[in-house]
Amino acid sequence: MQGDVPKTLPRATFLGSGTSQGVPIIGCSCEVCHSDDPRDHRLRCSLWVEVGGKSVVIDTGPDFRIQMLRERVQSLDAVVYTHEHKDHLAGMDDIRPFNFLQRTVMPIYASERVEAALHRDFHYAFEPNKHGGVPDVDIRLIEGDRAFELGEATWQPLPLMHAELPIHGYRVEGLAYITDANHIPNDTWGLLDGVDTLVVNALRPSPHYSHFSLDEALDVARHVGARQTYLTHISHLMGLHSERNATLPEGISLAFDGLQLERRDQEWHPTNRQHAWTL
Ligand SMILES: [Zn+2]
Ligand SMILES: [Zn+2]
Ligand SMILES: [Zn+2]
Repeated sequence: MQGDVPKTLPRATFLGSGTSQGVPIIGCSCEVCHSDDPRDHRLRCSLWVEVGGKSVVIDTGPDFRIQMLRERVQSLDAVVYTHEHKDHLAGMDDIRPFNFLQRTVMPIYASERVEAALHRDFHYAFEPNKHGGVPDVDIRLIEGDRAFELGEATWQPLPLMHAELPIHGYRVEGLAYITDANHIPNDTWGLLDGVDTLVVNALRPSPHYSHFSLDEALDVARHVGARQTYLTHISHLMGLHSERNATLPEGISLAFDGLQLERRDQEWHPTNRQHAWTL
């Protein structure tokens, strides 16, 4: 019945579900990096969210350009950042086509740390006498967990820890997106109450100092108790998608690139799309 669904339904599309190097990893000969299953091909983490009448991406990693092309994104109203690591920031320069097409400055929602990183990494975009052909951005600072509006949707920042680094997840319309965390502070648990769908990072089965392992992510999923949980920011060490996914408890799945959710009757459900494309 996909064809009957009006286009205005809120939608969330996984642009990438891989860890910082992506999967496959350059030069790796493991079976995951050589898998023919498109679900084993993971670009760097990002989510495209169409809610409240706005088209928004969470993070612009190194694969941002190819993700925009793959999903045929025609307009972008804002970028929301989780943190300043390169795998979440590096593609920011490629917002330029949206500046050009829309003839507008791009609103960017970021913490002070991310703002500092943007100024450092993309200094040419902030110079007083900048030339044409540079990204045109308007940074709007996120303060703690203070919510902000984008169109008709309220975005709730979720303060998280990524080892020593304070970062943000987001909650919007019953969907919570957490990536690169290894700790959820006490005050943030309350902000996750009643989410319908949780996205949480799970790097690999073995522990890591700055990312949730698989078991830790499953604990978070149980604590939050969302109807459905998707795991993201996945390394090749997680194993083959098909094998690992089959071992997960009911209501918990590995995300994959191109996975698309639609919000119907307050719940986010996958569309019948299988995957996006393969490298
Ligand atoms: Zn990352
Ligand atoms: Zn590999
Ligand atoms: Zn990170």
